[in-house]
Amino acid sequence: MSKPMIVCHGGAGHTAKDQPGVDAAADAGWAILGAGGSALDAVLAAVEIMENDPVLNAGTGGRKRADGSVQLDAAVATSDGRLGAIMAIEDTPNPVHVAAGLLDESIHILVGQGARDWADAQGYPKSPVEGSDSPSGNDTVGCVAIDGNGLMAVASSTGGCTGRPRGRVGDTPLWGPGLWIDDEIALAATGIGEEITIKMLCHRVAVQAGSLQQRLEYGLSLFDSSIEVGLIGITANGEGLGLANTGMPWAIRSANQ
Ligand code: ASP
Repeated sequence: MSKPMIVCHGGAGHTAKDQPGVDAAADAGWAILGAGGSALDAVLAAVEIMENDPVLNAGTGGRKRADGSVQLDAAVATSDGRLGAIMAIEDTPNPVHVAAGLLDESIHILVGQGARDWADAQGYPKSPVEGSDSPSGNDTVGCVAIDGNGLMAVASSTGGCTGRPRGRVGDTPLWGPGLWIDDEIALAATGIGEEITIKMLCHRVAVQAGSLQQRLEYGLSLFDSSIEVGLIGITANGEGLGLANTGMPWAIRSANQ
């Protein structure tokens, strides 16, 4: 038996005013874990709530591209070795669920119109996503959790950085830089996707020795302080934390909190 825990974030660069949506997400995920539900169900429920929150940059609140379109990225992975990722999908208010739909498929990553075509074939909801004109450009939402059976899961979702061109993909849906999970640690990143991708951030944090705090501090130390970066993580031995070099609303729920 493991002690359930969930950690959520609302994006590096966001301020405390965006904390309520992150708290609501953590509470919803924690209710699932507390009732004996799985880490996968918990992270999906939490991220769905943040995708539906117009102040957070994911789903409904996704930031607009240079041409005014809203293209969304999302990824989900589990500690038993499954991955699903969706990149630059349009007309999809909750891309995290489409990404989760790929966990048990023989393909794991779909992009653009092909991603939407697959979502249509599977019956995932399709409707225009209005998006946000907020000038605060970056941010992402993410969640990591461990359940009573020791299964860990990670899910992230983003509208990307404001004003980037159509077709641009940041770190968020990328296995290695934007998220990582194995049987010991689950990690999700937020911040400037191009920089996080070049540094292969989450994987490099995962292979570090030390406490979770030391490992997250190592990850942030890879970046100049002018580059917004944040991380959340949990470990199989009961650590959970969020850390950023800028404002980042995050929340943790566990039996010890
Ligand atoms: N990492 C996201 C991206 O580059 C944005 C963010 O988390 O701030 O798309």
